[in-house]
Amino acid sequence: MTWRTGIVFSSACLLHKAGKYHPESPARLRLIMRGIEDSNLLENERVVLIEPEAASLDDLRMAHSVQYINMIRDICKRGGGLLDGETGTAISKESFLAASFAAGGAIRAVELVMNKRLKNAFVLCRPPGHHAGYAYADGFCIFNNVALAAKYLINEYSFDGILIFDIDAHHGNGTQEMFYDTDEVLYISLHEDPSEFPGTGFIDEVGEGRGTGYTVNIPFPYGTSDPAYWKTIKSIVTPILEQYEPRFILISAGFDGYFRDSIGELSLSAYIYLKIFQVMTELAHKFSGDRLVAVLEGGYHLGFLRKIVPAIISRMAGLEFNLRDDRPKLDMTAQRSAEKIIEEARKIQSRFWNL
Ligand SMILES: [Zn+2]
Repeated sequence: MTWRTGIVFSSACLLHKAGKYHPESPARLRLIMRGIEDSNLLENERVVLIEPEAASLDDLRMAHSVQYINMIRDICKRGGGLLDGETGTAISKESFLAASFAAGGAIRAVELVMNKRLKNAFVLCRPPGHHAGYAYADGFCIFNNVALAAKYLINEYSFDGILIFDIDAHHGNGTQEMFYDTDEVLYISLHEDPSEFPGTGFIDEVGEGRGTGYTVNIPFPYGTSDPAYWKTIKSIVTPILEQYEPRFILISAGFDGYFRDSIGELSLSAYIYLKIFQVMTELAHKFSGDRLVAVLEGGYHLGFLRKIVPAIISRMAGLEFNLRDDRPKLDMTAQRSAEKIIEEARKIQSRFWNL
């Protein structure tokens, strides 16, 4: 049997509408699927398309309160509405359904990887999840898909040693909060300065109680580019993971750090995303029996999504892919401030890891 990479996708995720001109639009998934078609990935025997089911209420309760789940369902029944005006988190009539399929996709992917039916998987879902908390929606997110995947591993398989690596341009406040006091999940997030949004993810947030040392935040100044990210991967992320030896790797795969993205304030190129996935698949091979599931978060540049996601899935499947894209101009001021942040993070994390 060929060891396959799963593309987990349900057209139900297209039904969530946040507003006519909202950047978190169904077009994001449509364009990714078009990119996958263009690349003929699904004709390769190493790749398979998986249609998930909706998460059940019991599934959603692993990470969210019953009152919150019911509230979302009721608002949708009434035709939708604005959940959070400040961050533009809105839902439509079918958002509950779409969000349940997004969460169901993340859970299904983990299950198939655990049952060895898949080597790894990329979950193409929306609404995104990492800002959603136990009882609140935030930053375009309704249910926390990646947190549900981790909870499922803990509940169904008594798994620990789970890594959630969050590369979205924004800090995953919801995810951090859910695992802040536990050592079952190591949460590492690289993101832009979170002062404006979401207000968490600062360098000294390192977890609490049993979870102390199991939250790693590297907040970069606006305009940070590939070299600082690469240095962080090499000098902080990889050494920590060599010591943590993750048994399952979950990636909160947001692409709004891309330099042309309208929402993120970072200045990353396509190449750093590919390198990050290369490193993560290698670490998964070394420590996790290849078990890796990526879950789509943000990313609003449609042309980039269409290009980068098929390239990453190809890499996950061990296939060649020819990706060409422009590189942003390096902002030296941002680069120098980023270097300082890396040094400070290394010092803080040295209390818990040998760095
Ligand atoms: Zn984001």
